[in-house]
Amino acid sequence: MHTSTTAQASVPWEWEFDWHLTNRCDFFCEYCHPQIRYVLNRGRLDEPAPELVVQRFDELDRVCLVHMSGGEPFLFPAFVELCEGLTSRHFISINTNLASDDVAAFAARVPAERVTKIVAAIHQSERQMRGLSLGAYARNYAALRHGGFDVTALYVLYPPLLAGLADDLDRLRSLGVDHIRAKVFKGVYQGVRYPEGYTADQKMIVLANSGEYAFNRPYLDGMLSFRGQACTAGVTSFKVTVTGDVRRCASVPSGYGNLYDGTFRPRQGNEPCPAKRVLVLSQCLSYLVDPPVHPELGVEPNDLSSSHEGHSRKALS
Ligand code: SF4
Repeated sequence: MHTSTTAQASVPWEWEFDWHLTNRCDFFCEYCHPQIRYVLNRGRLDEPAPELVVQRFDELDRVCLVHMSGGEPFLFPAFVELCEGLTSRHFISINTNLASDDVAAFAARVPAERVTKIVAAIHQSERQMRGLSLGAYARNYAALRHGGFDVTALYVLYPPLLAGLADDLDRLRSLGVDHIRAKVFKGVYQGVRYPEGYTADQKMIVLANSGEYAFNRPYLDGMLSFRGQACTAGVTSFKVTVTGDVRRCASVPSGYGNLYDGTFRPRQGNEPCPAKRVLVLSQCLSYLVDPPVHPELGVEPNDLSSSHEGHSRKALS
C-alpha cells in the first residue's frame, strides 16, 4: 500500500503527482522562487483544457493523489471544473493564496472527501500592498472549513516578516483561522542563504511560531540531503511541470515523458537519490524507502508545501 505526503501510511491512491499546473499568479511575492517570479510567471500561459488533463489522469488506470500548485491554482482556466473532473476518480490537494473569488463555488461544487488538504498561504506583504485584508482571507477560509475541507493557513517565515509575525498570527486566530502553520523561508535574502542563515534569535522565533508545521526543526538542523538512499520517487510519485513534462521529484529532473501528450511512463524499481540538496523535505521523508527518524517529526508530520510545500506524511503538504 502506498504512503503519502498528505495522509496516514495506508491511503486509497496508488500514485502521487506534484503538479505545477499554471504559471499564472495574481501575487508577486518577494520571496517567490526566482525561477517562478521572474521567468515562469511571464511565460507559457497556455494551460491544457481541463477535460484533457482529467482524461490523461483517468487513462493511467490508477487512483491518483494530485497535489496542485503553481503559480496560483485558482487561476487555471476553469479551475473548479478541473477539480470536479479530477475528483470523480482521484484525490486532490491544493496550495493556494486563497484570494480568488471562486473559493465559495469550489467549496459548493467539489466533494470535500476527495480533497486531502488545502494549504492556504497568507503572503501578508502582498496582501497589504494589494489592499486585501486578513478578514477577506478569513472569510474564504471559513467557507472551506464550513464545507468540511481540511484547510490550514500557511505563513512563510521570510526574514523581514518575523517582527510582525506574532501580531499577524494573533489577528488570524481572532478571525477564526484555527489551523495555522508557519514554515521556514528557503532562498536567499540580502546575500544570506536560508534556512541556514537564520540567527539564533530568529530561530527561536521560528520554532516558537511554527504552529502545526513539524518540518522547521529538521530544516534548521540541516536535514537537506539524502543522496544515495533508495527512494520511490519516479516509481509511484512524480513531479509534473507546467508543460506536462513528468520528472522524478521537485529536486531531481530525470524525465519520464509527458502527461499531457500521453507519453508518460513511470520507472520500474526504486533508485538511489542523486540530489545534493533537496528542495522539499516533506516529499523526501514521504518517498524514501527507509526515511531517517527525526524526533521533531514524531509519528506523522503534516506538511506538502511543494513549491509552496503543503505536503504531509503521517509515518509529510
Ligand atoms: S529523496 Fe527527495 S530529492 Fe531524493 S529522489 Fe527522493 S524525493 Fe527526490
